[in-house]
Amino acid sequence: MPMMKTSADSFIRGNPAFGRTVRDFVQRNGLSLLKKNNSFYCGCLKRYNIYMQFIDSHAHLNDPAFDADRTELITQKLPQAGIALSVEIGCSPEEWQPALELSSQHPSLIRAVLGVHPEYACKMNDAAWKQLAALLPDERNVAVGEIGLDYTCLEFTDKEKQQEAFARMLALANQTQKPLVLHIRREGDDYAAYEDSFRLLKHQWNGSSSTGYPGVLHCFCARYEEAKKALDLGLLLGINGCFTYKKNEYIREAVKKAGADKIILETDCPYLSPQGKRGQRNDPSNVPLIAQFTADYLNMPLEELAEMTTRQAKALYGLK
Ligand SMILES: [Zn+2]
Repeated sequence: MPMMKTSADSFIRGNPAFGRTVRDFVQRNGLSLLKKNNSFYCGCLKRYNIYMQFIDSHAHLNDPAFDADRTELITQKLPQAGIALSVEIGCSPEEWQPALELSSQHPSLIRAVLGVHPEYACKMNDAAWKQLAALLPDERNVAVGEIGLDYTCLEFTDKEKQQEAFARMLALANQTQKPLVLHIRREGDDYAAYEDSFRLLKHQWNGSSSTGYPGVLHCFCARYEEAKKALDLGLLLGINGCFTYKKNEYIREAVKKAGADKIILETDCPYLSPQGKRGQRNDPSNVPLIAQFTADYLNMPLEELAEMTTRQAKALYGLK
């Protein structure tokens, strides 16, 4: 990308979508103004964040990995990186209340998603199901998830238990009309978890949500064959660090075929740091890096990808 020095105000005035001035744009989008002087560099990610807005559609900021700096990260690092909002996934009974509380502490920056990860389905009992049904309608909770099937963790919860919990979660999603956040994981070349998930989705789920977007297949890590089945159900694909790993060309090809209008961005932090940062703790401030990588691969301008994926994530979760 060419480096081009320009006045921030004149650049933004030349792009009607951005508003009249930097200050105008920054205020309308709830961003913090980072400029030290009135100029910035097109092509420099940090400077782009003056006017680009990203959403981390799937994060685990309540993970102990963030215990030392959680508040500082959410209130300072994320707004500075252009992260307008991070969606916190509470996927086992002990995570539900903390996810809602994190949203209460940072109402403009955090929303919650509640559900049962297939690995933790073994923790569900009558009281937990009752509690979940009572919490799902909470307005801080924007979806049902992450739910699905994962046959790489059968030592914790066997296939039958996973499928039973998934079907029950789908019934709750039907009742609450909230979109789904799906976790489906293949085991090597074995895609049985996808086949079983699509079968359950077809038979147990009404396929609708009050936002108009039925859900997202989070951490998309499969072939176009699986992408196509998800798209046919109206689902979006969640793109994270997996998309950036060298060996995952088949994932990139599937996403290219699906198109940018079918994806949203996520980190799944603290796991899955993007290429170049592997081995380090992941956090939502890496979303612009994932976006840059994706925009380059799809051969489109970063700001266009940022605008599309942010708009799609907001629509999915019913955010203003
Ligand atoms: Zn997750």
